[in-house]
Amino acid sequence: MRVIIHLECTQCRERNYSSHKNKKNNPERLEMKKYCPRCKGHTLHKETK
Ligand SMILES: [Zn+2]
Repeated sequence: MRVIIHLECTQCRERNYSSHKNKKNNPERLEMKKYCPRCKGHTLHKETK
């Protein structure tokens, strides 16, 4: 049930992180604050495929 996801910066749309998630435990889109090198700061990152 584990799938690979990418985390995309909501400001510049750069994909900065990839990780795994369990679809059973987290069926909805992940959102987390992460450092974006392009924005040079912490921004909200959303899950993409
Ligand atoms: Zn960014």
